[in-house]
Amino acid sequence: MEFDAAALQHNLAQVRALAPQSAILAMLKADGYGHGADWVAEVLAGRVQGFGAARIEEAIALRRSQADARILLLGTLLDAEILHICSTQRFDVVIHRLEDAELLAALPLPAPVRVWLKLNIGMNRLGMHPVDFSAAHRLLNLAPSVASITHMGHFSDADNLNENTTREQCKLLTTTSASLGEAPLSAANSAAIIAHPQSHLDWVRPGIMLYGDDPTGSLPDAQKLQAVMQFKSRVIAVKEVVTGDGVGYNRRWRANQPCRIATVAAGYADGYPRHAPDGTPVVVRGQRARLAGRVSMDLLTIDVSDIDGVSTGDEVELWGNQLSANEVAEHCETISYELFTRVTRRVARCYP
Ligand code: PLP
Repeated sequence: MEFDAAALQHNLAQVRALAPQSAILAMLKADGYGHGADWVAEVLAGRVQGFGAARIEEAIALRRSQADARILLLGTLLDAEILHICSTQRFDVVIHRLEDAELLAALPLPAPVRVWLKLNIGMNRLGMHPVDFSAAHRLLNLAPSVASITHMGHFSDADNLNENTTREQCKLLTTTSASLGEAPLSAANSAAIIAHPQSHLDWVRPGIMLYGDDPTGSLPDAQKLQAVMQFKSRVIAVKEVVTGDGVGYNRRWRANQPCRIATVAAGYADGYPRHAPDGTPVVVRGQRARLAGRVSMDLLTIDVSDIDGVSTGDEVELWGNQLSANEVAEHCETISYELFTRVTRRVARCYP
């Protein structure tokens, strides 16, 4: 994997242009969506107003390299010990259950923490019903263990451009919040940043768009995002097969004419999806080739019959600049988020 700092900065500039009035909390969970949280934080430091982590371990690791950054611990299982760590490490913390608000309100902490109080606006995953949310707000508003309160929600359908759900979910957040007085508001993920400007509010929380994918597919060419991760390998063998020959385990792919098959040193143990079907694209010599046969642990096979001169040692782009992770993901019935976060440890990371 090779990483491109200029692409990351370009994508951040697109976020800034789309939501010029909002503070930016860059999502660095899952090791910066597989891009390396420390590196992403270093590139974005001073250009964003905060970072988001999903696990206490991620937040602690980030604090080591980002001594002064605002780091938000997203919805997780809280207890007195974790809240104590949030206080000593100066993490903002998402409170998504009334019980956690009660625990925090009663805790003596070395220093008060900044709270992001989460309303359930429709996902029914994390967040409180408006009644509990209001009770939690009132309780925390008076608690000495709390430095400030931001109100947040998370959209369930922001990537769906054809319905009103996001507008309604946003309204639930703004009206519930307004009934409690003034608090900074945050709801927008990448899809909402791109497609629902009314939802930008005080803080936007971009994840995937920083890493180069537009989950709505609606950005015009002038605002296109750039791939930050290039996932590449090399051809290690080329074979001629005759009509009727099969390729790979169970010979799933069959040659319906004489073909040339290149074997590439990447497999599911590197994080390339095993369930990728025949026909999934890769790029060799600037041209598309197609997966032919099952992905195995260390290898995959591609049909290069239509590409002149493919030979051992040629570079193969699995996803990156020339082939978006999103396109590969669509073939594999998944999303780029999963591809990015599943590249395994044995793949070398090359940072600029
Ligand atoms: N906000 C929260 C609470 C999230 O969990 C996520 C990611 O899932 C994001 C924002 C960023 O989402 P996206 O990567 O779609 O921009």
